[in-house]
Amino acid sequence: MTYLRPAIAAMKGYVPGFQPDDVASWIKLNTNENPYPPSPKVVEAILSEIGTDGASLRTYPSASSQKLREAAAELYGFDPSWIIMANGSDEVLNNLIRACAGQGQEIGYVHPSYSYYSTLAEIQGANVCTYGLTESFRIEAFPEQYHGTVFFLTTPNSPLGFAFPPAYIEELARNCGGLLVIDEAYADFADWNALELVKKYENVVVTRTLSKSYALAGMRLGLAIARPEIIAALDKIRDHYNLDRLAQAACVAALKDQTYFRESCRRIIATREWFTAELTAIGYSVIPSQANFVFATPPDKNGKRVYDALFERKILVRLLSDPLLAHGLRISIGTREEMEQTYTALSEIG
Ligand SMILES: *Cc1c(COP(=O)(O)O)cnc(C)c1O
Repeated sequence: MTYLRPAIAAMKGYVPGFQPDDVASWIKLNTNENPYPPSPKVVEAILSEIGTDGASLRTYPSASSQKLREAAAELYGFDPSWIIMANGSDEVLNNLIRACAGQGQEIGYVHPSYSYYSTLAEIQGANVCTYGLTESFRIEAFPEQYHGTVFFLTTPNSPLGFAFPPAYIEELARNCGGLLVIDEAYADFADWNALELVKKYENVVVTRTLSKSYALAGMRLGLAIARPEIIAALDKIRDHYNLDRLAQAACVAALKDQTYFRESCRRIIATREWFTAELTAIGYSVIPSQANFVFATPPDKNGKRVYDALFERKILVRLLSDPLLAHGLRISIGTREEMEQTYTALSEIG
């Protein structure tokens, strides 16, 4: 197929987590979705945006998503010029690579983390350099001066769940010659985050998503926080109407209902701690998690065996295709009831 660019012809494409059609008959713990619904204010805002006849949908949405930027700016303590909204944080990760990495340039990330960075780099014809982790969850052989154009740091890490300590992230920001994109998809479940570093270092970008902590994966909402020069560059290359009207209404309502949001996160964190302790007591080794999932290894280190046994009981978790991670499973934190059932199943499976 000679009409394809060689980079596109050669790439495999990203494979998202399995989404069963009959979702209701599963305990679905494989893609880190929130087990609780979004704030009732979100539903109200969407219904009010549609109205009784859908007339609002005739016209294009706000191109700048200004109200969303203002809501996010207020929440995170930045000027709105430091914020860009995105159709899922995947969109803004994509645009960061499009803005900074061309043919033959290099991007880097930690392995294991989010392999989608690799797919995005391949589309650009950019080279990818991955760095492993040490036993104590530091980056193996991170150079004194990283020379690629972008380095992606997923913290809390997925699929392992640990978070890099703030002082260590700051050291990486100093040693990074290109942009340091800190993918904080799970930061709302963690004890700390890197927002202060955006103010302190001009090469630091933080990305967030409303998919997990705000229970809006189906709405596709994410954002990036960075210096206005970087935001202006991202604004040039995004689709001009990247967020639809319903997503914009939902986003403002979700960010403004912090009481609901905090309670929902608190319950997930409490369940995570309970589930971690229970699994540990039956001989699993569980990495202490700062996210809404845990990476757990059964006593016989056979992730596939346990995955299959859970699958038979209609409990869906994530078995990573990477042979380095075949000893364990990534299990999203569901409701307390779902996790009690999962715990019971795991104690039977052994
Ligand atoms: C879920 C996830 C994303 C994508 O978030 P969306 O806003 O749903 O596109 C990005 N990075 C990491 C590490 C994630 O786990």
